[in-house]
Amino acid sequence: MIATAPKVGFVSLGCPKALVDSERILTQLRTEGYQIVPTYDAADVVVVNTCGFIESAVEESLEAIGEAMAENGKVVVTGCLGARAELIRARFPQVLSVSGPQDYESVMTAVHAQRPPPHDPFLDLVPPQGIKLTPRHYAYLKISEGCNHRCSFCIIPSMRGDLVSRPIDAVLTEAERLVKGGVRELLVISQDTSAYGVDLKYADRTWRSRQWQTRFVDLASALGELGVWVRMHYVYPYPHVDQIIPLMAAGKILPYLDIPFQHSHPQVLKRMKRPASGERNIERIRAWRSICPEITLRSTFIVGFPGETEAEFQDLLAFLEEAQLDRVGAFAYSPVAGAAANALEGAVPEDVKQERLERFMAVQADISARRLQARIGTTETILIDEVGPGVATGRSRKEAPDIDGKVLIKLRKSDPRPAPGMFIDVAIKKADEHDLHAAIAI
Ligand code: SF4
Repeated sequence: MIATAPKVGFVSLGCPKALVDSERILTQLRTEGYQIVPTYDAADVVVVNTCGFIESAVEESLEAIGEAMAENGKVVVTGCLGARAELIRARFPQVLSVSGPQDYESVMTAVHAQRPPPHDPFLDLVPPQGIKLTPRHYAYLKISEGCNHRCSFCIIPSMRGDLVSRPIDAVLTEAERLVKGGVRELLVISQDTSAYGVDLKYADRTWRSRQWQTRFVDLASALGELGVWVRMHYVYPYPHVDQIIPLMAAGKILPYLDIPFQHSHPQVLKRMKRPASGERNIERIRAWRSICPEITLRSTFIVGFPGETEAEFQDLLAFLEEAQLDRVGAFAYSPVAGAAANALEGAVPEDVKQERLERFMAVQADISARRLQARIGTTETILIDEVGPGVATGRSRKEAPDIDGKVLIKLRKSDPRPAPGMFIDVAIKKADEHDLHAAIAI
């Protein structure tokens, strides 16, 4: 019967949030008895989940659609770039359907129209935790869609709409199911994690016979009861974020905050229309470290934003020196089609942007390297991601998958063989620019 199951090819592009959408669609397809195949040839229809955040992502998505059209011809397009249907239809008038992000319904309708689902209960073999594209031992947990802010460089709200939070009991039930399915690390994602629940007026829900409000602090403490690593991403520095630092100090959730500051200077932040831009972040960081000294802070920044003066840029460098962040990503500003920032005056010339990016990276590279060096000689618990010949790769509490560095563990003949998803203690021996090198602690 499997031989008669309709076959779907799937191409997933974009950020972790898009990955969660892909997982939902794949789960639905498998639930209905579709077979997922790895080649265009074998597929009756191909779904392309696109990204449309920056111009290079738009191009990559258009290329992926073009390839699927050329190789297969029956193509369903969804995801962020799907919100710009006219662009896709102009280039590929033959696509079967175009839908925006989280529009699972439209994707399923288009797939059904091409090949109806089989009616065979024996094909309903989806594990209760769903289909996951990430390795089995960690999973992204999406708590909301959309965003109520209107940062001037960002087009996500126009593509994904205003904030829509999932009620806390739904999120916690999904988290519980993932943990039962073998997940050891939950990565909480959204567009604006600290605003969680504001659209639901912090609705009360019941989980494990207790009342919880649909809000960030309750979510953090409830997830902290599951006994796995819980890592918070995309947290903006609102005052109530201070309330989760004691949970980190108590070991309930990971002492790790991914907090996209984007800049330090109040005028630049104002032009960017950033949330929580009036906060005194250096004082906050100091206070967080006094409560939870082992906290890891990761952030992203944009240099060369329209109107950024040399003095404003130097303010940013001074912020880096004071904040001593552990991990930092930085981009030279580049205009995104449809973003309000394109209309701002004072575009910074390309060579100045690049020069500032280099100066920024030089300052931060020293800081990050020093912070990695300080870990040499310590013993840390590592979650193993991969095991190869003679070496295992993993991450400590201080490293998120994909965006941070790794811990490379050299395996001796006498070492027990680790497996992905295992926690082991290692002695940190050496640090390079991004990664750490270690040996299993005896
Ligand atoms: S907070 Fe700003 S950058 Fe983040 S999704 Fe919302 S508008 Fe975009």
